[in-house]
Amino acid sequence: MKFKAASLSHIGLFRETNEDSYCHFEPDDETLRRERGAMFIVADGMGGHQGGEVASRLAVEIIQEYYYASPSTDPLQVLKDAFQSANKTIFDASLEDAGLFGMGTTCTAMVLVGGSAYFMHIGDSRAYVCRNGGIEQLTRDHTLVEDMVRSGLLSSEDARFHPKKNVITKSLGTHEEAETDAPASPFSVKPGDVFLLCSDGLTSFVRDQEIKLFLESNEPEEAAKHLVDRANQLGGRDNITVQVVKVIEP
Ligand code: CA
Repeated sequence: MKFKAASLSHIGLFRETNEDSYCHFEPDDETLRRERGAMFIVADGMGGHQGGEVASRLAVEIIQEYYYASPSTDPLQVLKDAFQSANKTIFDASLEDAGLFGMGTTCTAMVLVGGSAYFMHIGDSRAYVCRNGGIEQLTRDHTLVEDMVRSGLLSSEDARFHPKKNVITKSLGTHEEAETDAPASPFSVKPGDVFLLCSDGLTSFVRDQEIKLFLESNEPEEAAKHLVDRANQLGGRDNITVQVVKVIEP
């Protein structure tokens, strides 16, 4: 698969640390690259002291390592197992070190291989695809307000400003088992598709339609920069991480 990709993470304007982590990985080995593809991950950590940073970094490192070391050729199953492995490591570490107690992280991962995109997801980071002039959110937020919207108790417009909009219902590292989602996988990739993985530091401030315009009218590197700048312009109250991947040939 041929694509152009750019990743960018920014601390924002108010936070003292950046608790987001990300990775874009492609194996050097050509056979491994063809068989296992390229991996993109965004993780947004939470927890006092150093907890958030540690949790998101562990998630990204463990999932990448697990995925490429696995003998299985079922990307979805390996991603699922990789998330569980990361969950266990983060959970155990949080019990061993009082300073890390309660830490956790969101995590959204995408693997591009064999003409398909595979996703695994937990928390409120997001994956989007832009195709044919539209933008579609591929992941479902694991948040209290999203659950309320789905059960008809809240409109999506009111959800944007709800005081509890940051309450996450599922994450890696906070429970013994992680309840991950595999949204729309495998997703059949077409030339011109633009994927976006991002933390809520982007989507809490910049609306989907505006995100779409940035993705449509720029190459990935520029788009990533514009998205981060725009989130900062609109407040910059959180860490912002974006990964933009434009497919050239599936
Ligand atoms: Ca965040």
